[in-house]
Amino acid sequence: MSATRPLHAAMDQFPVVDGELTVGGMRISTLAARVGATPFYAYDRALITQRVAELRQTLPAAIELHFAVKANPMPAVVQHLAGLVDGLDVASAGELQVALDTGIDPADVSFAGPAKTDVELRAAIAAGITLNLESAGETERAARIGAALGVRPNVAVRVNPDFELKASGMKMGGGPKQFGVDAEQVPALLERIGQLDLRFRGFHIFWGSQNLRTEALIEAHDKTFELGLRLADAAPAPTELFNIGGGFGIPYFPGEQRLDLSPVADNLQRLLPQLAARQPQARPIIELGRYLVGEAGIYVCEVIDRKVSRGQVFLVSNGGLHHHLAASGNFGQVIRKNYPVAVATRMHGTPTEIASVVGPLCTPLDLLADRMELPQAEVGDLIVVYQSGAYGRSASPAGFLSHPPCAEVLV
Ligand SMILES: *Cc1c(COP(=O)(O)O)cnc(C)c1O
Repeated sequence: MSATRPLHAAMDQFPVVDGELTVGGMRISTLAARVGATPFYAYDRALITQRVAELRQTLPAAIELHFAVKANPMPAVVQHLAGLVDGLDVASAGELQVALDTGIDPADVSFAGPAKTDVELRAAIAAGITLNLESAGETERAARIGAALGVRPNVAVRVNPDFELKASGMKMGGGPKQFGVDAEQVPALLERIGQLDLRFRGFHIFWGSQNLRTEALIEAHDKTFELGLRLADAAPAPTELFNIGGGFGIPYFPGEQRLDLSPVADNLQRLLPQLAARQPQARPIIELGRYLVGEAGIYVCEVIDRKVSRGQVFLVSNGGLHHHLAASGNFGQVIRKNYPVAVATRMHGTPTEIASVVGPLCTPLDLLADRMELPQAEVGDLIVVYQSGAYGRSASPAGFLSHPPCAEVLV
């Protein structure tokens, strides 16, 4: 192997005991027996707790943390996080139910997303949570539904920023977008909100996701504070919620490294006094999905068959894209790259071979590892895909080929 070939960031979050990976203090083979079947997802409670604690240590104390439920809507995970963060952000009535079931104060729940139906708006307004308004039409419907219910809706404006980030990652703001209200249209909407029977709470400015570049995050924060403070001057009430988005990425692919957030924290420290001076009631919020849960989760599958085809080794597993679309490279990736993968029952690691891990589906897309160097594995060995705590099970086409659903455990 060439010395310059980029490596995955070290997946050292799960300790190895007697050559086996452990999760939540349990050996993977014992956990598989406890779950009763493979494949499954396992999320490590202590790692989630630790991640939130580290963030609180690094970021200025005034910054509130929200969890974006769509990253991992497993009720036990959401319940665990509800006790650690300051709020939950949902994107559907289903996620709203999971959030409310945790017992969280509805004042700390917000609901963003295009195409909120009247049924969803009614549920959200009845619950007393905050709607992140995505359009003028949605604003009018919210006011009508609130009047019919006799409940004054809490609203914030989701802004489609007038800046676009140069950096990598998934862009969700700038240019024409189905998300949010274009920044230049926001003053008119704020005026309309003031005329309607709506309680204005603040702004939600979301510009993108999965960013691993510190300078890009700093630039986004600078521009978000500038934009948010400018818009707040036109608002019908003081800004309480000043949601500056999230976007903190985690390393998935070879060559990617974990974020060093200290420069981002220093920059926020520099920006916060402006907010305190101009909008003294404002609570600055960062909303994160994958950064809170992604590294705490693994997908576990089992080698069902081992075969060699024209010299290439295939570990044929019972796990695949029907459970883990992202690891197969088909969840928005332009070029397929391997997620970090290990043979969890052979962590001593030798001897190795070049092998591909494939799944049970009748499509060549069903590929979990493409010609990776792995310990030589046999039928019955357990394979894990790391960085699987976010956008895993719920972001995969479970119905495709009618295999059984995938279990999930929080340990
Ligand atoms: C998806 C989403 C998030 C979470 O993104 P991550 O990359 O998982 O942190 C946060 N906010 C909004 C509005 C989203 O749509």
